[in-house]
Amino acid sequence: MFCAMLLAVTPILASPVLAGAIQQISAHDGAVIVQFDGVVDKADVFALAGPDRIALDISGATAGRSVALGGAVQNIRQAQFSADTARIVLDLAEPAIVTGGAFSADGKSLRLSLRPAAPKEFSGTVARGKTQIIPPMLFRAEPPKRRYEVTAAIRSNVGTGLPTISGPSDESLPLVVIDAGHGGHDPGAISPHGGQQEKDVTLAIAKSVRDEMLKSGRVRVALTRDTDKFIVLQDRYQLARKLNADLFISIHADSAENPEANGGTVYTLSEVASDREAQRLAARENKANIINGVNLGGADANVSSILIDLTQRETMNVSADFAKLLLREAMPNMRIRGNSHRFASFIVLKAPDTPSVLFETGYLSNAEDVSFLSSREGQRKVARTLANAIQVHFARRIASR
Ligand code: ZN
Repeated sequence: MFCAMLLAVTPILASPVLAGAIQQISAHDGAVIVQFDGVVDKADVFALAGPDRIALDISGATAGRSVALGGAVQNIRQAQFSADTARIVLDLAEPAIVTGGAFSADGKSLRLSLRPAAPKEFSGTVARGKTQIIPPMLFRAEPPKRRYEVTAAIRSNVGTGLPTISGPSDESLPLVVIDAGHGGHDPGAISPHGGQQEKDVTLAIAKSVRDEMLKSGRVRVALTRDTDKFIVLQDRYQLARKLNADLFISIHADSAENPEANGGTVYTLSEVASDREAQRLAARENKANIINGVNLGGADANVSSILIDLTQRETMNVSADFAKLLLREAMPNMRIRGNSHRFASFIVLKAPDTPSVLFETGYLSNAEDVSFLSSREGQRKVARTLANAIQVHFARRIASR
């Protein structure tokens, strides 16, 4: 495992060295844009209170000069925080929170979306700590070398033993692997309404699904993680394959800039995304493998171009049938979006022989969804939905044999 990691890392060492100098920072209504003259490594965004500020640490960047002001931002300061990190501080005229952030396709500009917020909401984001934004793989400066040691250590923790299988000992009974999305250093989406992290919500739901399914006595269940730990995406489905699972369900909770967006969506694998939103979501979820600019999942450009063979096509059909069933069972229990079965190229769904779905259970950016998904009652409803769909799925498969 350790050697494999070193091999996977080697090509990245050949990529360009830092840094990009900050050329311009502009703040106007609802957005802050930072432009660089070259590629940078990453940005960490965090909020500070009293006076209210938003700070950005951009590693792989050198501080520059030019600024343009507007919106909630009263003043912009920047300085070289350390040898490889420029710090930008936005002094706020009124509390505002960062609702989104992304680098441009060429990695040379960073755009943050801001919206005014109540003081309480602002303190929530202060408590939350840093949010990391990473430029596209091909346009990213090389991070400092010491980080590779961290990467290797994390990687070697993965795959130590297989998860425990709960339920009846009868091995002829179907086995479902529930995957709680994100974990460890990767929090996933973070709610602007109280700082709830996706990794905690998904774990609570996964445990609830396990408990609900065990009541039936007719399925066996394993969780890819039952603690707050990081697992690379490929290892998640590999665990399911090693256990010879009959069904793999990855649980997530999305976040959107539009606070009105709400409800669940079920995704299955396809090399061609059903729509741009599904494509963007897959890109975001697939980024879970990237820490400090190093892709823990290995050669990813290749993963997305793997041709889907015939076995996988059959697996995809079974996955799609399960997705429809899940939506049918969900209707009475929870909010579901229109056009709610979508397709995209999610790494976590790429097991060629295990039917797999990714269930985005709702939006942490939506006030009602986040209170539903973080309540015991809401989690139980999601769990019942999944347990019902799983029972019907296996009953049908046995009947059609
Ligand atoms: Zn997620």
